[in-house]
Parts: sequence; C-alpha cells; structure tokens
Amino acid sequence: MPVIRIFKLLPRGHQIAIGALSTAMALLAMAPTESALASRDQAERPVTQARQPLPLEVEDRPLADDSLHARELVVRISAGDTLSSIFARNGLSSSLLHDISQLGADAEQLKKIHPGERLTFFLDKRGQFKALSYPLDAARTLEIRQTGDSLHSRIISAELEHRTQYAQAEVNSNFWNAGIGAGLNPGQILSLAAMFAWDLDFALDIRAGDRFAVLYEQRYKDGIHVDTGDILAAEFINQGKVYRAVRHDDGNYYSPEGRAMRKSFLRAPVNFSHISSNFNPRRLHPVTGQIKAHRGIDYAARTGTPVVAAGSGVVVESGYNQFNGNYVVIRHDGTYLTKYLHLHQRMVKKGERVQQEQQIGTVGATGRVTGPHLHYEFLVNGVHQDPKTVKLPQAAILSRTELARFKPRAEQLLTQLDRVSEVMLARQ
Ligand SMILES: [Zn+2]
Repeated sequence: MPVIRIFKLLPRGHQIAIGALSTAMALLAMAPTESALASRDQAERPVTQARQPLPLEVEDRPLADDSLHARELVVRISAGDTLSSIFARNGLSSSLLHDISQLGADAEQLKKIHPGERLTFFLDKRGQFKALSYPLDAARTLEIRQTGDSLHSRIISAELEHRTQYAQAEVNSNFWNAGIGAGLNPGQILSLAAMFAWDLDFALDIRAGDRFAVLYEQRYKDGIHVDTGDILAAEFINQGKVYRAVRHDDGNYYSPEGRAMRKSFLRAPVNFSHISSNFNPRRLHPVTGQIKAHRGIDYAARTGTPVVAAGSGVVVESGYNQFNGNYVVIRHDGTYLTKYLHLHQRMVKKGERVQQEQQIGTVGATGRVTGPHLHYEFLVNGVHQDPKTVKLPQAAILSRTELARFKPRAEQLLTQLDRVSEVMLARQ
C-alpha cells in the first residue's frame, strides 16, 4: 500500500450556514471565469456525500491550530456556476477571489470548474477564509491557503499504487472487438495499434486468428482504482508473425533488442478505427469491386477521415486533376515518394515540410471514383512498391548506456507476458 497522508478530519461543521449569509456580492473578480457547462469525467468520479479525507500533507497542518473551531464548507458545482457566483453565494469576498486570481498557473485550474465537481473551503471560527481545496483528478488536488496575510497555491499529488494488469485475446471479428473483449478501453486499443503502426497495417492486414497480449498499469489510491496507465509491454501475432514491444522510461516503445518501434514509414496513412472493411482477404477495390490490380492500396473510409503523412518529408505536389481529384505527393528523401489521391480536403501546400503522422488532408471521393476512399501509393526510386513488403531502413537502436538500462527491464516484462500468456492459453 502506498503511504497516503491523510489530514485529520475536521469536525462536522456548519456547512450550509455560511451559504445563507450573503447575496450581495456579484462582482466578477476572476474574469474570464468559464461558466461551468460541460461535465468532465463524471463517470470516473464517484459522487459521494461522505466527508472526504483531505489530501493535505500532515506537516503543514494549515488548519490544525484551531481545527476544533474551523468549519468546512463543501460546494458542489452546478451547471451555470462561476467562481464569482459560488463565492458570492457562500459569503466569500470578491477581493479574496481577486487575490486568488493573481496567484498564477496553479490557481488557473479554477477557471476550469465543471458541474459535479467539488470545492471545499476551510474557514476559521470567525468565518474567515483559511484554505480551499479543489480535486483536479483522482490523484491531484489544488490547494490554496491563507498564511498570515498572504495566499499560496500548490498542487498536491497523492501517491498512487501501481499494479500490473494483463489482457489478451484472439481476433475473431475484428481487432477493435477483440480489444474490447479483452477488457481494454478504447484509448488502450488505439495505443496498442499505435505501438505497432510502423510494422502492421491495422486497417487491412489483421486476420481472424491473430492474437495479442498486453501488460499494462492500473493505478490505485487507497485500494480504489483511479486510472489506467501505460501499456508496459505487448505482443501481437499477425498472420503467424510475432511482433513485440516494450516501453522504455523515455516513454517510447522498443523491440526486445532495443530498436525503436517508430520507423521511417507508417504502414497505413489512415487510422484503422476509421476503415470500414477490416476483413477483406481478397481486398476488393472499394469502387470497382474488382480484386486490386492497380498500383496503390485503397482504404475505404468515410469522407472527412483524417489522412496523415506516412513519413516525414516535403510536399512536392498538392493539386487537383480530373483523375486523381485532390491529391498530395510527398518526397521523403532521394529514395521514397508517397502519393495520396481522391482527397476531400488538402491541408498542405507545395513546398511545405511535413512530419510523420501530420495530417495532410481528409478522405474524399474527388476525381474518377464512385465512392470515398484513400488511394495510397508508395514509390521507391520511382518504382511502385507494396509498402507492406518493401524493405525499409532499420530503425535506430538505443545507445549502449540506454540499452543497459532497457534490457533487464524488457526481459523481465516479456517473461511476465509469456508466463501469463501460457496460463491464459492453458485455460482456454
Ligand atoms: Zn485506388
């Protein structure tokens, strides 16, 4: 268990008493104060009426001196509330709000209040402001405190307990469903695809029978799950071929040998989650219905779907003609060229430098087509190649010192992944 310091609970006070005191103050001291309209992460924030332990550190004890007399005022934010209205309604002065607004970056968080969130004010026995706490998320709380004549703000982070979780599945209908079936959330499914996006075309190359296994982090506070952390290691078996990746402490993913998963080219310039035909082994042309016989790869997707640069480079053409419709051509270096046709919208100009994964346009149905799709071509030294099978330059490997730190951790995680995989498979 993590060591979480809990501030001594204050006696049940007159939570509502103060609210009745004032109606007079309506000065907008903290402009621009956002009106609280949208609700943020409400599902993940259990609403509880119970007194919450304060995430204040013990040694500071802002209220300990006269805690017996102090009052705690809990304000639940409603739709339409602003800080000004909350302060006014609860008898807190507009000059206090003004002073808080001058505290800087941390206090700026108060401009983002949302309905359902909670502000807790601590007042002394005379009803004077002592402190304010505002939970930013499950692990962080903004605290504003009066010490003598001055106000201070800071963000307090609770220590979270990390637990490693395991998920695995075999793909039956499509990758997305398999991910959900394995208990992954949508963000994790996208992350998993993003980890392998340089090796695998998730839009077109995933097949029934593919398998994946994932180790990821779950974070807990006081034994209660608060959020899901990063994927630590993953394995994807696509059409019999095994791909593995491990997260390094630089936040990037590497192969077990320490080569970056990120490479010069993405396998697909559109995200798989937008592609309508996840399983189409014969890969029919989305327009003609013929098995592909032309020199590109077609991704059938709704008009407006983002198209990204498969690699970094310079836009050498961005234009329109009656066959290609709106099209963009990117030169990546002396060797590689990629083409993107039938775009609805072009978002780059000729001569512009683009980064890998930068959006260059949207899928459309311009030119000689009958339905929206992206036609993607990959040329090596002027010759059309299948981007999935062409030999591409190897990714960079970690430096020797980095590798020395990466390897033992990677081995440990992959062993763990293997072990749980075996247990799970044996159970099936
Ligand atoms: Zn095509």
